Amino acid sequence: MYNSLSEIQKQLFSNKLSLEDIVDNYLKKIYEKKYLNAFVEVFEKEAVKQAKIIDLKIKQNKAGKLAGLVIGIKDNICYKGHKATAGSKILENFVSSYNSTAVERLIKQDAIIIGRLNCDEFAMGSSNETSVYGSVLNPFDQTKVSGGSSGGSAVAVADDLCLAALGSDTGGSVRQPASFCGVVGLKPTYGRVSRYGLIAYASSFDQIGILSKNISDASLILEAIAGNDEFDSTVSDKVVPEYSKLLESGKKYKIAFLNNHLNNKELDPEIRDTILNIFDYLKSIGHSVKGVDFKLTDLLIPTYYVLTTAEASSNLSRYDGVRFGYRNENANNLNSLYTNTRTKGFGKEVKRRIMTGAFVLSKDFVDEYYTKAQKVRRLIQDETNKIFNDFDFIISPTTPKTAFKLGKKNQNPVDMYLEDIFTVHANLVGVPAISIPLGKHSNGMPFGVQIFSQKFEEQSLLSFANFLFKKQKFF
Ligand code: GLN
Repeated sequence: MYNSLSEIQKQLFSNKLSLEDIVDNYLKKIYEKKYLNAFVEVFEKEAVKQAKIIDLKIKQNKAGKLAGLVIGIKDNICYKGHKATAGSKILENFVSSYNSTAVERLIKQDAIIIGRLNCDEFAMGSSNETSVYGSVLNPFDQTKVSGGSSGGSAVAVADDLCLAALGSDTGGSVRQPASFCGVVGLKPTYGRVSRYGLIAYASSFDQIGILSKNISDASLILEAIAGNDEFDSTVSDKVVPEYSKLLESGKKYKIAFLNNHLNNKELDPEIRDTILNIFDYLKSIGHSVKGVDFKLTDLLIPTYYVLTTAEASSNLSRYDGVRFGYRNENANNLNSLYTNTRTKGFGKEVKRRIMTGAFVLSKDFVDEYYTKAQKVRRLIQDETNKIFNDFDFIISPTTPKTAFKLGKKNQNPVDMYLEDIFTVHANLVGVPAISIPLGKHSNGMPFGVQIFSQKFEEQSLLSFANFLFKKQKFF
């Protein structure tokens, strides 16, 4: 199959291959691998039609920058005239009447959207087991989870069902499945990519991210979708650099790691050793690598779950059976319409989070939980930004372990939440973070290494990640 957009474009522009052939190949692969459950809908006819149109544009020299890109989108990203259900029954049959900004910009550059990808319900989860469409299987071992919540996106890219995918990352949902499936996962700075048309989970954390086979594709896609947008007041109007042209850098960087993250007893020893090897390598070629003490590690997960559940309880109040998607027909008054619809429409984990969120916001407990968590979030931000005064990057594992067995953690929410220990940090602070596949465990499963940088430093983050990615055989 195809490994990068530049490889595809070379073939397309020299007439060795048509986009129609490429789309056809992906469609075949999607049907062959249906059992992985990565796609929830394939836009087959449209993709073929678009391919013909773009083939013609290529001949006429009028094709956009992303011509040749066949991309899947997570089921929580709106695409005009198509369903978007966030893996939930409550949005069954909901058809979006507008394009999300990210999709709009992809199409404008002639990318082809090939289908909707499975995810945890409302992007809440770390294993893609809470989707109304069922679990996504890990292509490296089908008895294991894909990771979540963008599990369908990670599997589709890992197993060549499309070249790249959009996901969303509120607490790790792009990076964690990327790590479990051996692909690149990029969460940009909060506010780098418009959230317009992304079904909201926790609005002060949510960010659209990219899953790809390499850093250069992630960079190209980021430069197409990032930037100012009148439909999202939290998006930044900072100029978007041409990331893909700025990937080479010979700079020597100052790199930090967090001592207590690397000493975490839940961290798999082989993952730890790989990271230590990477540090040795980086030092041997002139970068500086130093451990720093970060005292707030134990507060990352509780702060994340108090704040995101609070925001989710508010965001998800709009699903009432009146305005969107599913409606329970057995109601005899307005209240029972709401109750029946929400009872039948939401799954267990989503209900747990709505109730937790309503609790932490309730009059008697708001100061003790929600307000306190906001203050702790500020402390976490301040302490992390202090590290960035002295260092360019923080490197950490993406996940404590490789992909776990299906069904192993979904009975115990706290067990599942602890999976996010290394990823939620970037969302609490709003900084960009990337997971790159730098190792394979002796158990046969891939795992990623995570790099954070300061806000809006995607350019140096991507160049450094690209350098390491290309050296991956050393580790
Ligand atoms: N696993 C985390 C959660 O369940 C992250 C989800 C996400 O990033 N959307 O909330």
